[in-house]
Amino acid sequence: MKDLYEILGVGKDSSKDEIKKSYRKIAMKYHPDRNPGDTVAEQNFKEAAEAYAVLKDDQKRQQYDQFGPAGVGLGEQGGGGFGFSGFGGGIDLSDALRIFMDGFGGGGFGGFEDLFGGGRQRQRVQKARDMRITLALTLSEIQNGVEKTVKVKRYEQCSSCGGSGAKPGTHPTSCRHCGGSGQVRQMSRTLFGQSVVVRVCPVCSGTGEMIEQRCNSCGGEGVVPSKVSIKINAPAGVVTGNYMTLRGQGNQGGKGVLPGDLLVFFEEKEHPYFVRHGNDVFIEALISFTQASLGTVVEVPTLDGRASLKIPAGIQSGTILRMRRKGLPELNSSFKGDQLVRIQLETPLHISAHEKSLLKELDQSGGERTVKFQRVKL
Ligand SMILES: [Zn+2]
Ligand SMILES: [Zn+2]
Repeated sequence: MKDLYEILGVGKDSSKDEIKKSYRKIAMKYHPDRNPGDTVAEQNFKEAAEAYAVLKDDQKRQQYDQFGPAGVGLGEQGGGGFGFSGFGGGIDLSDALRIFMDGFGGGGFGGFEDLFGGGRQRQRVQKARDMRITLALTLSEIQNGVEKTVKVKRYEQCSSCGGSGAKPGTHPTSCRHCGGSGQVRQMSRTLFGQSVVVRVCPVCSGTGEMIEQRCNSCGGEGVVPSKVSIKINAPAGVVTGNYMTLRGQGNQGGKGVLPGDLLVFFEEKEHPYFVRHGNDVFIEALISFTQASLGTVVEVPTLDGRASLKIPAGIQSGTILRMRRKGLPELNSSFKGDQLVRIQLETPLHISAHEKSLLKELDQSGGERTVKFQRVKL
């Protein structure tokens, strides 16, 4: 198991202030709000909270210095100490968030909400589940960016009970098990005598409330499954695997529960003839021998309608012509890729008698009749 000082990146003789500062930095970096869905970050966040809970307390710190993890009820067997179920697998996220809130919430550091942008209630951190959807886009949509409306199945707050889960006209009562606090205290025995362990109330799951009569519409859940339309602004230049997080657009929670986030993953649809390569797009143009010999101007499809392309006389099969800035934009940048047109000479499969005689004439006028050979270009 890791050393608590190491976890917080401080020395054994560091001051309380240094420990607090260092913990704050780490907690901010790994805060779940900033790292949605990142379990490694969450683990780091929890570890730091657990270490801080010990080292900020003079007595626990002394015990830890003297006796190691067992001195503060941490260790392989887990349990005991001060209310955490062990180490590594460790403390709950809500415990960790509470430690963070106790350290920096509600004054002292000038408010926690400011830092995470929003006046969310964070006393009791309950959040509805995040959702993930995939949005398929055509290359033309990727080129310009697009606003799409998608139908999403998610939980919505129950309108009958306002999310409380109680039958309309009735109100949730205080949880009898915890007296409405949402927490229960348990005595725990450690090497150093008894200590009090605070846990989330198992009866009300921390809400502090109990429902006597359940709402008929939601069965007491406070949420009902439904289908909603959500507008998504896909930016130009995305690639398959890019995603964006729409805060609060995931599953909605009951009363007092934060809404989950909606993660939108982008996926590129295959185009009938354009192939993307980074910001460039490739297309092949099949031209005739006469077009190649005499040169011509052709209308070429682009992602943005048609554009004319000059094919110079004497062009060789396989030559790639570049149409500047007709490709895809770089995400969040003014850079734009090109369209690359590979010229291929197409031999006609069927020709008329007249064409045949013209070609024979051409063939006879052609002078030298030898075939040239060259080294294969690999
Ligand atoms: Zn309801
Ligand atoms: Zn309770």
